[in-house]
Amino acid sequence: MKSLFWALVLTLLVSVNPLAAKAEDKPDFEVILVGTGTPPPLMHRFGPATLVRVAGKTFLIDAGRGATQMMWRKKIPFGKLTSLILTHLHSDHVVGIPDLWLTGWLRGPYGRRDTPFPIMGPKGTADMMGFMQKAYAWDVNTRVEDQKMSREAAGVAVKEIAAGVIYDEDGVKITAFDTDHGELIKPTLGYRFDYDGRSVVISGDTKYSENLIAHAKDVDLLVHSIGAAKKELLEAAPIWKLILAHHIEPEDAGRVFAATKPRLAVYTHVVALTNGKIKPVSAKTILERTRTTYKGPLVMGQDLMSITITKATVKAEPFVAKKKK
Ligand SMILES: [Zn+2]
Ligand SMILES: [Zn+2]
Repeated sequence: MKSLFWALVLTLLVSVNPLAAKAEDKPDFEVILVGTGTPPPLMHRFGPATLVRVAGKTFLIDAGRGATQMMWRKKIPFGKLTSLILTHLHSDHVVGIPDLWLTGWLRGPYGRRDTPFPIMGPKGTADMMGFMQKAYAWDVNTRVEDQKMSREAAGVAVKEIAAGVIYDEDGVKITAFDTDHGELIKPTLGYRFDYDGRSVVISGDTKYSENLIAHAKDVDLLVHSIGAAKKELLEAAPIWKLILAHHIEPEDAGRVFAATKPRLAVYTHVVALTNGKIKPVSAKTILERTRTTYKGPLVMGQDLMSITITKATVKAEPFVAKKKK
């Protein structure tokens, strides 16, 4: 039953005027949900990370647990990212950085990096990366001496950013905007990518945000985080209400989608709270609750799902592992 449900969800391929403009269907704008999870170490939802491939450039938004392994499952040369871009510094969004930074420096078929690790993020990112370099100094020093590795390529090129245009090259524009993840959790950023008349918005972690709505009006693809918990859990201890209050719930997410009218809305960073005894809310329930406020195109994200954005279509496809021969 469960697999049937997923099959139904995943075959929801959204087409807008599919017969039109075949020639304009360039496969040059793609989003891959590298990991759709949150802090719990789930095997079916790795840590939050979203890849945006556009016009030959590759940006990774956040590097949660296992981001490097998940990218390599799709043979993405993770050593050659145009930039890692952070939404905020909560641990679930950054614990994958040392792996990505240092493994991308090693010899191997991963698109080995020969320049410093490029990273942009909100205030605090430079400190974090400085301390990280100290934490891994033994490894870097040892490999530079022993394996004659480039010290420069083990370095970090960090740029702290705030709301506004953070990247504008070769027709690719990235705009950061403030989101609302809670009073004591600042700064937090969402990102809008614009290229060739097409657009993608990545929400990052946020509650219902009017500012996000303003930046996501008529976007082609809106990748939004989501949170939900059973009523019994919220009544079991006050902490669960506090945690859930940092995230948007399905009915409000539906209101965001209804206001922004994306050609496709996709859920990621699925906060489905549980204390072990009271079960998490299912993906089906999250979608059903969203449907009370929004009737348009919507997909529950899955790890390594790929979404291509062309002028004619915005199409989500699940990852299918190649069978070993
Ligand atoms: Zn998070
Ligand atoms: Zn967070």
